[in-house]
Amino acid sequence: MKLAINGGSPVRNKLFPAYSTIGKEEKSAVEKVLDSGKLSQYIGGWGDKFNGGPQVQALESEWSEYFGVKHAIAVNSCTSGLYCAVGAVGIEPGEEVIVSPYTMSASAVAPLIYNAIPVFADVEEEYFCLDPDSVERRITSRTRAIIIVDIFGQPYNVEKINAIAKKYNISVIEDAAQAPGACYKNRYAGTLGDVGVYSLNYHKHIHCGEGGVVVTNDDALAERVRLIRNHAEAVVENKGCADIANMIGYNFRMTEIEAAISRCQLKKLRTLLDKRQENCAYLNEKLAEIPAISVPAVRQNCEHSYYVQPFKFDEAIAGISRDCFVEAVKAELMPTELREDEGVKISCGYVKPLYLLPLFQRKIAYGNKGFPFAELEFSDNISYNKGLCPVAERMYEKELFISELMHSFMSKSDMDDVVKAFMKVWENRTEIKKSMCFFSKSTIQKL
Ligand SMILES: *Cc1c(COP(=O)(O)O)cnc(C)c1O
Repeated sequence: MKLAINGGSPVRNKLFPAYSTIGKEEKSAVEKVLDSGKLSQYIGGWGDKFNGGPQVQALESEWSEYFGVKHAIAVNSCTSGLYCAVGAVGIEPGEEVIVSPYTMSASAVAPLIYNAIPVFADVEEEYFCLDPDSVERRITSRTRAIIIVDIFGQPYNVEKINAIAKKYNISVIEDAAQAPGACYKNRYAGTLGDVGVYSLNYHKHIHCGEGGVVVTNDDALAERVRLIRNHAEAVVENKGCADIANMIGYNFRMTEIEAAISRCQLKKLRTLLDKRQENCAYLNEKLAEIPAISVPAVRQNCEHSYYVQPFKFDEAIAGISRDCFVEAVKAELMPTELREDEGVKISCGYVKPLYLLPLFQRKIAYGNKGFPFAELEFSDNISYNKGLCPVAERMYEKELFISELMHSFMSKSDMDDVVKAFMKVWENRTEIKKSMCFFSKSTIQKL
């Protein structure tokens, strides 16, 4: 059977179904807001409009009830929420925050907004969240917080990370953008640290276009998040706040339209997740039959929400590189409806470890003179060199690939095409010419 990448006929000729969660509920909710004429009701001063209008406030109370957390604070993105969280924990300029290199960039650059310094620890070989041992090795007297990410939808190692945070008296900021509905024991991801942040952007499980929610059980933290969201500097005096550290506010306010959409979306989360988990279980079982593919485990006591489905690939067993193998699989398949321009929704490596971005490589953040890195006597202790986080680098370079062809609207027969494509490429892998393939250097040494 000739592979599609060599001109053979592909396994699939039609698009995969769209992941579209917007329906008549959202449309009518938006229409009501439009008809009211009040598209946002915030005022950037202390008073009854400081916390926004009825849709925002209803979303916040429904969100806190759903996730079992005292405070939920709606913002205009998860990125904004991370900025609020870093400011609210009372970070000082020059303090250090331990972050993951293997995540969306905002979760690692958030400390820089307050002139604090991101310090990268490595990720776990099996789960890809921050590795507690690596985290502990990076802690110094200047460490103030850890931003931990429930990457791909898998909750972090709560027991170990929270114990480290307690031991060194540092805050845990949980980035649960990819993990709404994931659980550790009977608690939801997002509520496992001191403060958590969710995303409601278009690419996430549930969305309102752009949006985010911050959650915490800590009253004082919640109050500071609300202030940073909405022009803190103009509010603290009339509100009677004594502690004004980091109380320069932003406008991170969510509109009534997005809040109305988000309320409808939250009601759909559980059903969407059930289907996604069922689909992932099916694909995990089938693709694990390929000797070069391994299916990452779900952490003990955890429920995975599968923002994307990660797989590991062993080049040495396959005799071809991950990148070649995945290219050949993609040639057998088709894009997804509504996202045709994004190609087949399987991709290699996830993200380049973030310390390799120009921001860290050149240590140029604010202005052109190296601030804040160069200001610090201890900047020599902080490395952003290649080799810093070997597990993240290896996952990026040759082991990990992720698939979105398991979303809630994929049917069994859609997934069977995915499985067929993988099997076809596996069985005919010798057809893939070695000369076409890019091998990572370490694999060439092994072969
Ligand atoms: C999507 C995402 C963000 C950013 O979310 P926005 O709402 O787009 O700002 C942050 N962290 C992680 C892990 C994400 O996946």
